Amino acid sequence: MTDITIFLGPPGAGKGTQAEKISEKFNIPHISTGVMLREHVENETELGLVAKEILNKGNLVSDELVTSMLIERLENDDCEKGAILDGFPRTITQAESLNIEGLNIKTVILFEVNETELIKRMVERGREDDTEESIKVRLDVYRDETLPLIKFYDDKDVLKTVDAFGDIDEIFNHISGLIKT
Ligand code: ADP
Repeated sequence: MTDITIFLGPPGAGKGTQAEKISEKFNIPHISTGVMLREHVENETELGLVAKEILNKGNLVSDELVTSMLIERLENDDCEKGAILDGFPRTITQAESLNIEGLNIKTVILFEVNETELIKRMVERGREDDTEESIKVRLDVYRDETLPLIKFYDDKDVLKTVDAFGDIDEIFNHISGLIKT
């Protein structure tokens, strides 16, 4: 059985930073669909060529493409015991696609940060897709497509909320405690 931990939250909330640290501490792979997609763009794969423009604009890559990329990754041997998903699912359709035998959605960590801080962090990060226009689109997409996942997972009693505004190590300790139980 593969125990899945999902990091849910808006862009710029620090999911990637915390996922790296948690991955190291608990020795489970960190799977970021954003990182995977950017690698595809970099390597100019078929998927990368489709995704490039979409990423730069801040829109979502289609559920079909992202889901098949993710499921394939989860079939890798290193995910036998578990995995941390960062940036997936981002839509209800994607969440439903995780409803497969052998996968157990164990914990969903919701990162809460106010919007002013999110924008500040993304501007400072300065990734290629961190333009003012793309940030606005990503926050809108988060509100429209991803926010419904909070209720979806709360109804399944797996949702845990973390105040993600503050000290990185304190947030890390909080998440570590939630994952252990
Ligand atoms: P951020 O922290 O800014 O959300 P990510 O690295 O998680 O950054 O994602 C970057 C981009 O990759 C998103 O804006 C989106 O275009 C694409 N992407 C990542 N994950 C998904 C997903 N699950 N479904 C659709 N598109 C995705």
